[in-house]
Amino acid sequence: MRIEDEVKLDYADVLLRPKRSTLTSRKDVTLEREFSFYHSPKKWKGIPIMTANMATSGTFSMARTLAPYKLITMFHKYYTIEDYTEFFKDFHDPDYIGYTIGIREEDIIQLQKMNEAGLMKHFSFICLDVPNGYIQRFLEVIREIRASYPEHIIIAGNVVTNEMTEEIILAWADIVKIGIGPGSACTTRKMTGVGYPQLSAVIECADAAHGITNKNGACGLIIADGGQQYPSCVAKAFCGGADFNMFGCMFSGFDESGGELVEKNGKKYKEYYGSSSNRALIENYGKKDAHRASEWRHVLMPYKGSIHDFIQDVFGSLRSTGTYIGAAKLKQFPKCATFIRVNRQLTTYLESFETDK
Ligand code: 5GP
Repeated sequence: MRIEDEVKLDYADVLLRPKRSTLTSRKDVTLEREFSFYHSPKKWKGIPIMTANMATSGTFSMARTLAPYKLITMFHKYYTIEDYTEFFKDFHDPDYIGYTIGIREEDIIQLQKMNEAGLMKHFSFICLDVPNGYIQRFLEVIREIRASYPEHIIIAGNVVTNEMTEEIILAWADIVKIGIGPGSACTTRKMTGVGYPQLSAVIECADAAHGITNKNGACGLIIADGGQQYPSCVAKAFCGGADFNMFGCMFSGFDESGGELVEKNGKKYKEYYGSSSNRALIENYGKKDAHRASEWRHVLMPYKGSIHDFIQDVFGSLRSTGTYIGAAKLKQFPKCATFIRVNRQLTTYLESFETDK
């Protein structure tokens, strides 16, 4: 047994110190970024925010809405070849969508079938997604997938430590997904005792990934995945060095989100549930997994209508952060950021009152 004494931080443990700024307006802050990748020869340009690959956020409807904003939709695992064939009849924006698989034999076979059906050319990203990226087989599968898909941008995760981030990039992934247990309704920390405070995980893994560069100067990249409760958390993740932000909770409850619309006591809600929740397993595979307990709560999110206003809110908040810390570009957020450790106090007294919105 060993104890690590160093304090590790979540988003709610810090604020950003305001700094002298020459920016006169939020409009001066550019959110678009352009990336080259450590392995893939592709280049990518857009606003580096993506939906979680969950049934409730990684939907076709979300992709149609987010792609014009240059935001990425990472599809959930449950669409069939027939679903995709239909979808690609009128969707042609590979830069802003990703295909998700796990590492089971049937996942790899499904990917092969997708490729044989000519569908993988429609995706820039392939996301290899497992709850625990520390198992040896994970690295083997990343290598196998890279051998078959040399051009695609490969995302792999989830992990939370620097050494594994490095291993995953050296095992031929381009982007490492960071986060174990920070999810808004995730009970992994409660059920298993495993986890890592998310902001510290992002800072440490970004440092590790960015330290690996190829001969063209492209480095490993990371995604901060989960735990963003407010747009400020997205800003803090970028300030901590995240190249991309991924979340599900803030993308849920909208018309474009998945999950059933539910009416209760005259109010409308939309379901929000995790990929390995009993709800998802029963809906998509007809049964619970006998060997593991669900690590996710099934939540009803207040229904919020269309997602367009929310997107503008996120963009507006990020631009505002930029003006406060003196960063004219998203890329400069880490350089301009100074975090101040605070007591957790993001929720204000009035937030507990109902509003008319
Ligand atoms: P949120 O945006 O709700 O805070 O977090 C979304 C993230 O939670 C996802 O991107 C994924 O990493 C994680 N997640 C999704 N489904 C599950 C699940 O069933 N169990 C756990 N423990 N995490 C999940």
